Amino acid sequence: MKIVLSCCVALVFSVFVLLGLGSEPVQAGTTFVTIGTGGLTGVYYPTGGAIARIVNKKRKAYGIRCTVESTGGSVFNVNAVMTGDLDFGIVQSDRQYQAMTGVAEWANKGPQKDLRAVFSIHPESVTLVAAVDSGIDTFADLKGKRVNIGNPGSGQRQNAIDAFWANGMDYKKDLMAEGVKAAEAPGLLQDGRIDAFFYTVGHPSGAIKEATAGKRKVRFIAIPNVDKLTAQFPYYAGAAVPIRSYPGAVNKADVSTFGVKATLVTSSKVPEAVVYAIAKEVFENLESFKKLHPAFAALNKQDMLEGLSVPIHKGALKYYKEAGLK
Ligand code: GLU
Repeated sequence: MKIVLSCCVALVFSVFVLLGLGSEPVQAGTTFVTIGTGGLTGVYYPTGGAIARIVNKKRKAYGIRCTVESTGGSVFNVNAVMTGDLDFGIVQSDRQYQAMTGVAEWANKGPQKDLRAVFSIHPESVTLVAAVDSGIDTFADLKGKRVNIGNPGSGQRQNAIDAFWANGMDYKKDLMAEGVKAAEAPGLLQDGRIDAFFYTVGHPSGAIKEATAGKRKVRFIAIPNVDKLTAQFPYYAGAAVPIRSYPGAVNKADVSTFGVKATLVTSSKVPEAVVYAIAKEVFENLESFKKLHPAFAALNKQDMLEGLSVPIHKGALKYYKEAGLK
């Protein structure tokens, strides 16, 4: 009997430890919410962590406990939010627009009518990193090279395809396109197994630091014909890769490219009170939130309500109205 009892105690204890609840008893009625992010060396993962940290400070008041999951990126996050596997996801603004209109990866599934916006976050630039010894000095030099365009499920994959389109190239014919996750690309580049990779990411990012700090020297490659992209696609804008974050790269000046914004999305099925709490806590603690990652440095409340294509979730809207922001 004693043995059975201590086994039970040990089991309950390990469940608590596994759930990360060891330090504090769980309130009856705690709502667990998960935010889908991206690779561990991207900016989405620490962004999810920053949101969770701010919201979890008030877990007694709201009864919400927020956790973060590393995922394959924007497209994966939209789909997992739509199936209910995730409550929230960080998603590129262009991917939000495509999911709303039922194009790109959603061409077969159609418009994702239950997708809702919460707020937008940091800017992301389409970042192209190439090994100096691969002989890639310009975008056109990607011809015939082994280039990681991103895993299916990532945001960057379509951005890379669009960049090739704007420059009269076909990624299926003109190069050897790889489809690995961004977190693996810096290692493959340093090992000489790829010549270049694309990553649509905020700066500074761990993955780009890793790629630029290795033995194999690398440079950022500018993406030409951004005008053609912005004329064709309403969600793209000109952007730059700030080289001050990456002293190991050989470039001497910021590199021109195009960009999007990271946004937080959810489903219309997620309860109003949960989305209200997340919007309110991030907005009311924005100065503390901004200190949690250098990519947040320029955030302000008005901008965080821009770049959203799908309707704002009613819980978030309730807060924005109360705060006089909408
Ligand atoms: N923009 C990337 C994507 O949507 C993720 C970037 C990041 O994790 O910071 O897949």
